[in-house]
Amino acid sequence: MDKKKRIVIALGGNALGNTLPEQMAAVKITAKAIVDLIEEGCEVVVAHGNGPQVGMINNAMAALSREDANQPNTPLSVCVAMSQAYIGYDLQNALREELINRGITNIPVATMITQIRVDQDDPAFQNPSKPIGHFMTQEQARIAEEKYSYIMKEDSGRGWRRVVASPKPAEIIEIGAIRSLVDSGQLVIACGGGGIPVMRQGNHLKGASAVIDKDFASCLLAEELDADFLIILTAVEKVAIHFGKPDEAWLDDLSVEEAEKYIGEGHFAPGSMLPKVQAAVKFAGSGEGRTALITLLEKAKDGILGKTGTRIHQ
Ligand code: ADP
Ligand code: MG
Repeated sequence: MDKKKRIVIALGGNALGNTLPEQMAAVKITAKAIVDLIEEGCEVVVAHGNGPQVGMINNAMAALSREDANQPNTPLSVCVAMSQAYIGYDLQNALREELINRGITNIPVATMITQIRVDQDDPAFQNPSKPIGHFMTQEQARIAEEKYSYIMKEDSGRGWRRVVASPKPAEIIEIGAIRSLVDSGQLVIACGGGGIPVMRQGNHLKGASAVIDKDFASCLLAEELDADFLIILTAVEKVAIHFGKPDEAWLDDLSVEEAEKYIGEGHFAPGSMLPKVQAAVKFAGSGEGRTALITLLEKAKDGILGKTGTRIHQ
């Protein structure tokens, strides 16, 4: 019998929703898409983003410290840890239920709280670029800067948002534990929200004020687990060149070289499609037989069967 294909899935914002009730509903659909792949005979590992959730937690913790002088503001690394547990809780339950509904009772589901080491010299710390949380007025933004030393930026005419550093992931601290669980046939949720960013200080790991991009964290996870596929599930079925323009063209199949050429020509928006294509290129280029796929959450199964999505390979 063929060895099972190992797939790392990166779930985007549309797989989780923006509020507690939205997430509860979204994970049911997400679980169906994931269990479809397990029924196809794949071994699946799940990673996910946390943009809205980490913003929400951060705001709630800031409100707590406003109300209670004994509560200092919560570090961003702790907010990421909270988001991993909260999202893992909903996803884990939805996956467990969907597996049981389909008569699959031999695959335990577990969420691994995951720390990822970042480099303290990463240039991203000098140039915070990742917006998190809700939009604010200029006056609210000024107060946030003054009270919490947040860095606020105007976001394309829509209002002000907090921006944080988004350094590259260098090392998954819990990779040994994740590998043991995956190798023993468990369905593992790991590297949630891009992982909790930490910096090494001797034997101590210190939380960093940052949010790692989940597309890059998922790429590192897929490399470390020697996966066959990295599937980035998002809000579009395929990647386009000339996106949103009259000569827009949807891409089915790309070599690493072609993808790099399109990156150079600026076809992919920074902060949304660019990190996905960069992560896909990095994974596909990291070893023979490694393929990356970018598609819509609901099309994951069709994508793995080669019917849709954008594939990037060597
Ligand atoms: P996620 O939450 O899954 O990370 P993002 O919103 O960050 O999703 O990124 C996906 C979005 O990228 C798509 O919904 C689309 O609007 C946008 N996008 C930007 N450039 C492109 C492109 N060249 N091809 C396809 N989608 C693009
Ligand atoms: Mg994104």
